[in-house]
Amino acid sequence: MMAPILNPTPEAITRAAKALRAGRLVAMPTETVYGLAARADDPVAVASIYTAKGRPKFNPLIAHCANLEMAQREGDFSANALKLAAAFWPGPLTLVVNLASSHTVCDLARAGLDSIAIRVPAHPVAQALLSEIGQPLVAPSANPSGKISPTEAAHVAADMGEKLDLILDGGVCQAGVESTIIDARGKAPALLRPGSLDPDQIESVWPGLIRPAQNPDAPQSPGQLLRHYAPNARLRLNADAPHDSEAYLGFGPGPATLNLSATQDLTEAASNLFSMLRRLDAVHDKIAVAPIPNHGLGEAINDRLTRAAQQ
Ligand code: AMP
Ligand code: MG
Repeated sequence: MMAPILNPTPEAITRAAKALRAGRLVAMPTETVYGLAARADDPVAVASIYTAKGRPKFNPLIAHCANLEMAQREGDFSANALKLAAAFWPGPLTLVVNLASSHTVCDLARAGLDSIAIRVPAHPVAQALLSEIGQPLVAPSANPSGKISPTEAAHVAADMGEKLDLILDGGVCQAGVESTIIDARGKAPALLRPGSLDPDQIESVWPGLIRPAQNPDAPQSPGQLLRHYAPNARLRLNADAPHDSEAYLGFGPGPATLNLSATQDLTEAASNLFSMLRRLDAVHDKIAVAPIPNHGLGEAINDRLTRAAQQ
């Protein structure tokens, strides 16, 4: 079914919030581009974003918050991070901060990291939806992986219309470029992704901006700068059964220490991946992992497992 494009009336906002609470996907306009929104605390809803985008890798997603108060439940902000938030929120600035103990954003949304990327969007429709739902939404650009980001509701309908509940029409996005991402955890701010907020403006609030992306010896893509969650346990992949000393992370029917999905549902498996790895890693030195088919979300799951096994 093709998602309807709705004018952002209070009724449409309520309908969108209801769909999101039920774990479904909604497209919402922001001042940067249209976002594919899901509730950030629900790993199944987050997994369905990856399915809808056809993304072959789990990269961490940005948690969109209604205001600083909501943001501070999710992340620990240093004094300098707070200065940036005060200066540029709501707006096209994403801050990477340490995860707060009161966080609600799920492991899959953060790709298992102990940090979190947060932004407070300025677009009135995004603001209205976030205030109504009262909890963070993840919202990567509402386009299939590899296609360009949508700046109009009609773009979203054309590319993703079958995969969403509804599209909130907020007109043409002003910026058309993604948010600027700053890592605000260190002594100096670090530019992880250039975006629609000019870095010179960051300088005027918190000087000393590091630009890792411009260092020829440093990795070019922000994704490569991420230090991903790595288990301490030794992982053995494509294991049909565990050895004596191993815990078994299963996929499908049969005995397992923990099972990614007894029914071999890849979306369910993706939603369980990071949390189950963590739980096994906390008590086992060796983990055998069942074979995961390499189609659909299986590709992203296998990408993550392969990297976790190589250390
Ligand atoms: P988007 O596709 O616009 O939602 O942006 C997601 C991007 O935000 C990722 O590809 C990362 O570059 C960045 N990001 C998200 N979370 C983190 C994090 N915890 N640490 C560093 N970068 C992050
Ligand atoms: Mg994108």
